[in-house]
Amino acid sequence: MAPNAALPAPTALAPKTPAVRRITGLKPTGHLHLGNLVGAIRPIVAGQYRAETIVFLADLHALTVTHQPAQIRALTLEQATVLLAAGLDPDRALLYVQSQVPQHTELHYLLECATGYGEAHRMIQFREKSARDRQVRLSLLSYPVLMAADILLHDVHEVPVGDDQSQHLELTRTVATRFNARYGDTFTVPRAVHPAVSARVMDLADPTAKMGKTNASGAGTIFLLDPPEVIRRKVLRAVTDPGRTVGYDPGHRPGVANLLEILASCLGGSPVALAADYGSYAQLKNAVAEALEAMLRPIRLRHTELSRDPGYVRQVLTDAAERAQENATNTIHRAKDALGLLSH
Ligand code: AMP
Repeated sequence: MAPNAALPAPTALAPKTPAVRRITGLKPTGHLHLGNLVGAIRPIVAGQYRAETIVFLADLHALTVTHQPAQIRALTLEQATVLLAAGLDPDRALLYVQSQVPQHTELHYLLECATGYGEAHRMIQFREKSARDRQVRLSLLSYPVLMAADILLHDVHEVPVGDDQSQHLELTRTVATRFNARYGDTFTVPRAVHPAVSARVMDLADPTAKMGKTNASGAGTIFLLDPPEVIRRKVLRAVTDPGRTVGYDPGHRPGVANLLEILASCLGGSPVALAADYGSYAQLKNAVAEALEAMLRPIRLRHTELSRDPGYVRQVLTDAAERAQENATNTIHRAKDALGLLSH
């Protein structure tokens, strides 16, 4: 039967809603912890069903400060394994290692030619880190330009960023917009998406500081691969406050509020409602230790399973790097053409 000419072709009827593409980079400078899980990994894993998801292990960024080569390699593999263990699906999301996609550094240089020295020098993170260290690497100054390359390489629409990276993403947008205006439309200008404020997990030993990979002793940081007894010990020793009753008051009782928020992130529900279920700090801490153990056990077990075959994780990474290069090569050609370089 001849197609009905009065009707548009089926494809023209299909809603044109291009998938949103998102990118996240994790720096392999430490063991992944509860803050990473709640603030980054869980949103990535949930988002992989709604958005085209790209996750890369930013090993090149890890070289901007003093580093141990063997440690970077081990942490890169460990983080990849933890991400897979936490539910990142390598058939849905692209999970690769930054240095295995050389187009990151190629675009980095091209973007440096569209970025002012003053712009890089003004970055707060550079100013803070360079004030602390006596010997500052040039790569620390150009770090945000490499970050711009990471993002622009993949034509991403959205970049989840915490407060600490907002200024760098703004620089990415400035450089992309300038490049497009100067040399013709080349890059997709991405927008920042900000995580919910409640996604912030605080250090158990100092609830006024964010839980982090490099906090002094690690006593207040729950690492995702910590054994259950270590998790329990860290939670039972968590700093609270002189009060006795359990209540949610982040302004005045940050330690207890943090424990309630951690509990809420494990069990769901609101910290305020959960507070009513516990009569003492000891009860609350026990509940938090148990909830954390229940949440982290499957990740730890799956990590152990995946670690038995490191060849599998390496293969996932190399396959993804190959796929990432296809898109990246396209972007590099566009950028080189726009700049007047011979791209082919
Ligand atoms: P970092 O480990 O600092 O490189 O952070 C990697 C990602 O984990 C970032 O997207 C952060 O937003 C998230 N993250 C790190 N620490 C925390 C924390 N304490 N609470 C919530 N999210 C965090």
